[in-house]
Amino acid sequence: MRISYSSLENFKQCPLKYKLSNIDKIKEPKSKEAIFGSYIHKVLKWFYQKDPHFPTLDALLKYYRDYWPQKTEGFEWKNPEEEKAYFKEGLRILQEFYKRNIPHKTSVLDLETRFEVVIDEDPDKSNGKHILTGVIDRIDKLSDDTIEIIDYKTGKRMPSQKILDKNNQLSFYAIGLKSRWPRIKIEDLRLSLYFLKFNEKIDTKRTEKDLEEVKDKTIDLIHQIEKSDFEPRSSVLCGWCGYQNICPIWRHFYEDEQNNHFNDIDIKEKIDKYFTLKKEKERLDKELIELQNLIDVYCHKKGLKRVFGENGYFSHTVYNKVSYNIPKLKEILEPLEKWEDIIEIDTKKLKKVLKEIPADLREKIKEIEKIEERFKYLAANNKSRKEIKEQIENN
Ligand code: SF4
Repeated sequence: MRISYSSLENFKQCPLKYKLSNIDKIKEPKSKEAIFGSYIHKVLKWFYQKDPHFPTLDALLKYYRDYWPQKTEGFEWKNPEEEKAYFKEGLRILQEFYKRNIPHKTSVLDLETRFEVVIDEDPDKSNGKHILTGVIDRIDKLSDDTIEIIDYKTGKRMPSQKILDKNNQLSFYAIGLKSRWPRIKIEDLRLSLYFLKFNEKIDTKRTEKDLEEVKDKTIDLIHQIEKSDFEPRSSVLCGWCGYQNICPIWRHFYEDEQNNHFNDIDIKEKIDKYFTLKKEKERLDKELIELQNLIDVYCHKKGLKRVFGENGYFSHTVYNKVSYNIPKLKEILEPLEKWEDIIEIDTKKLKKVLKEIPADLREKIKEIEKIEERFKYLAANNKSRKEIKEQIENN
C-alpha cells in the first residue's frame, strides 16, 4: 500500500473520508483555506527558486497579485469580501515573511521534494510493499552544515512544542530525507514548521528510535486500514470536509425538498413531529415528578405508607444501596473463579479517566482496546437546521 501523511490523517479523522479520497479516487472539492494555503506555497516556491538572486519584496508581491486564484476548477470565492480578506491576509503574510527572512542567507537544497520510502514488505506479499510517500516544502543547508526541513503552515493555530515533538508529519519527512541521503545523521537534521500567519518557525529533532517507532505505528495503522469497513466518523472536522455532499451523515442536509419523500412519507415532517412530541414528553415528565413530590409530602403529613386514587395507588417502599470491601470480596470469589464474572470495566468512567491521564499512557490503553461488538442505533439531536448552518458557515 502507498500511503502519505495526509491520507493517514484522513483515515484517523474519518475512515470514510479516507476511502472516498484514496480508494474511490473522488477528488475532494477544495476549501477556501486549502486554495489560499496552496497559493502561498506556490508563491514561496517561486521566490526560493530564484536562489541566490532573490526577488525584491515588490517583485514578490507583484507575482502574488498577478497569479492570485480568483476562480479555479471546482472553486469560487463565496463573495468579494471573503476574497478581499484572504488576499489582504496573503499580502500581510508575505510582507512579514520577507522582512524576517532578509538577508536571504539560505542555501536551498530542494523545493517541493517528493519521496517514497518502503517501510515494510507485506509478509504474505498479497499487498506488496508498504510505501510511505510525501512532499517536503523546502530543504535548506544551514551555515553549521545541518539540514533543515521546513514545512509551511497557513492555519490559524500554532501547536505547543510538546505536540510538535510528537508531530508525525515531520517524522515522516525525516524518514523520507534519510532514505534519500542516508549519510545525513539524524542529529544533524532540524525539522521545522513555519506558521506563516504568525511569522513563527518552531523546530524539533528526532532520534533513530523515534523514526522506528513511527514506522511501526504506521504499519499498525495500515493494517487497520486493510481491515476497515470505512464507516463515517462525524466530528467538528466535518465542517472542513469537502465530501459532505456525498457522505451519508451529511448528504441529507444538502438535499432538496423533493428528496425528503419516500413511500409517501415526508421524513422532514416526521422528524419535526418527533422533536415536538419529545418536548411534550419532557413537559409531561416534569409534571409527573411534581405530582409524585406532592403525593410524597401528603403521605408524610398524614403518616400514611400507602395512598389510593381511582386508577391506582402509591406505596412507600424502602431499599438499601449496598457496597462491599473490594479486596475482601476478591479474596472470597477469586479461588472460586467467580471474580472475573462480576468484574466489568465501566467504559464511561474509563473514558473520563482517559482524559485525565498523560497522553502516552492514554495511547497505551488505546493500543489494547478491542471492539467486542458493534451496536447500531439511531441517535436524536435537537440542534436546529439554522444552528447547524451557522456552525458550518462560522468554521
Ligand atoms: S463529512 Fe465528516 S463523516 Fe462525512 S466523510 Fe467527511 S469527515 Fe467523514
